[in-house]
Amino acid sequence: MVKIHPSDTKLTYIPFKDVLAEMVDVKLKDKFNFECQRCGSCCSDPPRINPKESSKMAEYLGLSNADFFKEYLSIEPDQFYIWKVLPSKKDDRCIFLKEPKQKPKYCEVYEAAPRQCRGRPLFGGSYVGDIVRPKAMKLQINQCPGLGKGKEHTVKRWIREKGLVKMWQENLDYRKKLGLLMSSTRNENELMSKIIDMFIA
Ligand code: SF4
Ligand code: SF4
Repeated sequence: MVKIHPSDTKLTYIPFKDVLAEMVDVKLKDKFNFECQRCGSCCSDPPRINPKESSKMAEYLGLSNADFFKEYLSIEPDQFYIWKVLPSKKDDRCIFLKEPKQKPKYCEVYEAAPRQCRGRPLFGGSYVGDIVRPKAMKLQINQCPGLGKGKEHTVKRWIREKGLVKMWQENLDYRKKLGLLMSSTRNENELMSKIIDMFIA
């Protein structure tokens, strides 16, 4: 396994916008009309990802987990266990957002994109035991011009079609592992190294 020292990682800080204020709670049976307009607005805050998602994106790009980690991930310094996709060099948008001139924007890795991206315009979602907690799911309203356009979806079908349940479960597994790690040591460097190991394994 390739070893990466925490000091090799890129430190960036992107303020997390108060997007929750612009969302509404939804239930599984709720319906919404949606067709992505490829405006790129939701890519202005690069996604927070877990090791499974990182590995999937690495494979999609033909990179090793370690190379993907070094090249494309950054950490929020005040929350040292939260890893994010890097912003691009020219602005704070996700590095995978492509903006060809006079053409719609697109995601370079959408097929392998993490749950935060695949679920849009649904935001969040979680488990309590084996049950999806509908109250944790929200629709982006003001931020997403695709809402209200295109065909009708139900929240339940959207979750199934986007494979979100599996992704939420994997994220829950990651958070459980993180919890165990964090209770096993108070040494931040040791903890950071162990978390990095999970990403590049
Ligand atoms: S904000 Fe909505 S319409 Fe714009 S790219 Fe994101 S999902 Fe598509
Ligand atoms: S991974 Fe793709 S969909 Fe997700 S924020 Fe980046 S460009 Fe947007």
